[in-house]
Amino acid sequence: MIPLAHPHTASPTADGEPSIAIVGASITGPTLALLLRQAGLTNVTVLDASPYLHAQAGGVIGLEHAALDVLDSVGVPQHEFVPFTSERVVAVKVADRCDAGHTHTFYPGRSTAWHLINTALLQRLPEGWLRLGSRVQGLATDVDGRAQLQIADADPLSADLVVFADGRRSTGRRLLDPGRKLRYGGYVAWRGQSPTVLPDLHDYTRLELPGAGLHLFPILQRDGAVVTDWTFYLNHSEQEFRTLLDADPVRRTYVLPHQIPAQARRHITDHARQLLPSQASAIIEATPSWSAAPIVDIAPPERMIYPIGHRAHAVLLGDALAPVRPNTARGANNGIEQATSLAATLRQHLRYGADLPVALEGWQRRNLPAVYDALELGPKLGATLGLGHHPVSP
Ligand SMILES: Cc1cc2nc3c(=O)[nH]c(=O)nc-3n(C[C@H](O)[C@H](O)[C@H](O)COP(=O)(O)OP(=O)(O)OC[C@H]3O[C@@H](n4cnc5c(N)ncnc54)[C@H](O)[C@@H]3O)c2cc1C
Repeated sequence: MIPLAHPHTASPTADGEPSIAIVGASITGPTLALLLRQAGLTNVTVLDASPYLHAQAGGVIGLEHAALDVLDSVGVPQHEFVPFTSERVVAVKVADRCDAGHTHTFYPGRSTAWHLINTALLQRLPEGWLRLGSRVQGLATDVDGRAQLQIADADPLSADLVVFADGRRSTGRRLLDPGRKLRYGGYVAWRGQSPTVLPDLHDYTRLELPGAGLHLFPILQRDGAVVTDWTFYLNHSEQEFRTLLDADPVRRTYVLPHQIPAQARRHITDHARQLLPSQASAIIEATPSWSAAPIVDIAPPERMIYPIGHRAHAVLLGDALAPVRPNTARGANNGIEQATSLAATLRQHLRYGADLPVALEGWQRRNLPAVYDALELGPKLGATLGLGHHPVSP
């Protein structure tokens, strides 16, 4: 059990409903906001640095049934963000650029795309809750002992509870837990959406070969067109990453299309041609705009809650708490599960006067083991696929 520094000092119920500031409007943050609305909380603000949101992490994202059910319960029905309902995962062994045998398994959930789920969530936020273009830079306490967020080019915002759901390069984590730094995991997820659609691509399909892997799934774009979403995992040394992208993999954890030089594209396309069946490499080649995410690891967190001043708290959620490797397909699922039980904790506090620090401590104790499991699983799965550095110890 991780004791809180001031277990009985926060008393938001004395002032009525606690005010909550959520930093990050991708998946974890807006899911929490909708759960809080359902729990009866009305004083909620969701901040995001980007004026226009775009996927920082996954494109296609697998959500397990528990996470799908949570979204359903807050009024985000599955049909809105799951256009293709196959639960089958086809794994294709590739040898000498040929299909050397298939196996298939079933995923206990459905695949969605980041833009579909993000749009469905943000559309449902109550008016006035979302503040885009608000980059949080610092955290202090105000004169009343509440947490105070410092926001670039805007007035500070005070809250009883600050929730950092601000992703892999979390400002919250840097402020609250500065010792836990990201480490490059040794491979990169190159990503894109190709206009080339294979007529027989209905299932989540993984082409597997040592040191690389291509994942394919059809998705629906905002304009209604079906495209092939692909992720090409490829091993790169840190030096190679720097040479290809002129950046540090733990600082540029999301590489935007304009940050990918033509020569890096050529290099990756050459690899695709050498490694993959021609139909698969053609999908990559036909893609006009690419992005990339270097895979990063982090030491397991010891806590999720931090007392701020004498009456407030800050918490870390989702990728802000711990980015896990995409092979685990757990990042978004973890964020949604943590948000769900945090909202339940706040509901108990609001409705029945549960002691908030004690309830938060219970929430933390229940959630940390799942994070440890996912952090441990990532490098293990990477090793079986020949991807990245492994095993990774804290
Ligand atoms: C290739 C790939 C495939 C994946 N597949 C899966 C999968 O199948 N299943 C799964 O569960 N997960 C998957 N993931 C992981 C999943 O995408 C992430 O775990 C998930 O997006 C994390 O959501 P989040 O809301 O916590 O953070 P993010 O999506 O990273 O969002 C953070 C938000 O915070 C904002 N922000 C950042 N800093 C600030 C600041 N200072 N002030 C204000 N706002 C800020 C950003 O603009 C962003 O909108 C995959 C990831 C990758 C890379």
